[in-house]
Amino acid sequence: MIIGKVGLDSSAKLAFQSHAHTDHFVSGEVIYSTRATKFLSHLRKGGFYREIEFGKKFYIGDFKAKLYPAGHMLGSAGIKLWLENGTLFYTGDTKWFKLRTAEKSRFPRADFLIVEATFGVPSFTFPTPREAEKKLIAFVEEALERGRRPVLYVNQMGKAQEVMKILDLHGYTVKASREMLKVVRVYSKFGVRFGNISADGEVVLRSYRSPRVENSLSPWELTVSGFGRLKLSNHADFWELIRIVERINPEMVFTVYGFAEEFARILRGLGYDARPVSQDSVIEPVDMMTKT
Ligand SMILES: [Zn+2]
Repeated sequence: MIIGKVGLDSSAKLAFQSHAHTDHFVSGEVIYSTRATKFLSHLRKGGFYREIEFGKKFYIGDFKAKLYPAGHMLGSAGIKLWLENGTLFYTGDTKWFKLRTAEKSRFPRADFLIVEATFGVPSFTFPTPREAEKKLIAFVEEALERGRRPVLYVNQMGKAQEVMKILDLHGYTVKASREMLKVVRVYSKFGVRFGNISADGEVVLRSYRSPRVENSLSPWELTVSGFGRLKLSNHADFWELIRIVERINPEMVFTVYGFAEEFARILRGLGYDARPVSQDSVIEPVDMMTKT
């Protein structure tokens, strides 16, 4: 989205990048992000980043702004902007519950909200991260007891490190891909350490992009994703999204990504002034006064 002249996970002269997943990459003369997002993005792309700390006021163009931890992966941030007609909060990809390798999310009050809706329908109801963790460990334990080597399919940035950390805490060694290990080095710089990486690890992590069909997986293979069999997600599920909207308590909501249409409809049913927007839409601050 472009707000005024500022890009929010959209390329613009001045652009905010919420986190380091490639579908949120932006280009611009200056890209505003956390230090961790800058380091992680630089594994895959260049660009001039201005590092912003959580909770510190700064200016992006004409707008006063502040970053809040989004809880989605290391360094992920939401941004609050002070517009002429009120405050706006953009969540980026976000999570209500605390993950082991991401900062605990925080959500400010705001008049206008742009919220992700990746899992914005009630059929996406996930276990809490701790419940999902128990299922993950039970799966790994059973495979190993039967003499099999468990294989977990994961996103190489964010999810892989979360799963590695969980396995580390439970005493299992992990064999990871080179790409995952590059990301691990950045996580370590920011104090998230892993003591269980081994070329001969008990558990194998593979990119979820590796060719496979979910229902053709062997009993000892598992996809770890909100869309997969083990729903340890670094996105808010439907109920987490509802909590986030309630916490921010906005007068007007824009929904983006995933089930944006459906989530806006549900929010309207709950009494919110809500409408879907596309990732590349341009929103003028003055439009935020308009009731749908
Ligand atoms: Zn993401």
